[in-house]
Amino acid sequence: MHVFERITTLHDFLETKGKQKNTIGFVPTMGALHEGHLALMRRAKAENDILVVSIFVNPLQFNNPDDLLRYPRTIENDLKLLETIPCDVVFMPSTDEMYPTPETTVYDFGKLEQVMEGAFRKGHFNGVAIVVRKLFEIVKPNKAYFGEKDFQQLAIIQKMVQDHNIPIEIVSCDIVREADGLAMSSRNVRLNETERAIAPQIFKTLTDAALKKQELSPESMREYAEKQLKKIDLFDVEYVEIADETQLQRLKNWEDTDHARIFVALQLGNVRLIDNLRIF
Ligand code: AMP
Repeated sequence: MHVFERITTLHDFLETKGKQKNTIGFVPTMGALHEGHLALMRRAKAENDILVVSIFVNPLQFNNPDDLLRYPRTIENDLKLLETIPCDVVFMPSTDEMYPTPETTVYDFGKLEQVMEGAFRKGHFNGVAIVVRKLFEIVKPNKAYFGEKDFQQLAIIQKMVQDHNIPIEIVSCDIVREADGLAMSSRNVRLNETERAIAPQIFKTLTDAALKKQELSPESMREYAEKQLKKIDLFDVEYVEIADETQLQRLKNWEDTDHARIFVALQLGNVRLIDNLRIF
């Protein structure tokens, strides 16, 4: 496994590999790796000649400075896990390496960024787009792998790739969950015992709500899920939305889309959790 901290050395390495007509599968991460990340990597490894993983906690996508400060960093363990895939190339740049000069790029994702995470985390998706675009330019992968855990992020990246004619295939991967249903997340390690015990209620509520499609309109289902979550004292619910999977706009009638999804974001103690589920 080759580990690079500098763009130039990574470039040199990948150029040589590229000349041998290898395909590159890329998985961008912020580290604190768990089984959800590893599933993306195994798939990328299986579908390409070379697996490149980046680990970079991107300050530009944190709207809350405390969240950035408290973001878990477990680099030694991450490298051990990456060896097990096995990963071919790890890119772990410093902030100065990624942003030698202040970033001023402003993306416009229209309606897609005006809802849910975009509405509650101002500037978040602009920061995501800036770093992912830069990483794409550095790594030049054939395919890049993203988790549906961050469903809106996936939609934003798809749009960025389309709008800017970036010749990279975006591959979306299923959410990996703990045995009790909690979506895996780097932030889960920050939950205390009580919070961890109650956290699976998020997925349980989403599944219960989704099963009521025959009897409830999208808005009634949304209200039902919100009410269930608000009954739990420790949950500070930010939003519950039911939207179509392409535009991510609030759904009025089930007939308006083939693929609806329920989304939730809430604060549990000082940890912010998100989850979503397709409604069949
Ligand atoms: P992060 O390190 O949180 O930026 O995540 C890196 C990538 O892993 C993103 O594409 C996430 O959507 C994906 N990811 C994180 N958690 C999960 C999960 N539980 N299941 C599937 N993908 C995930």
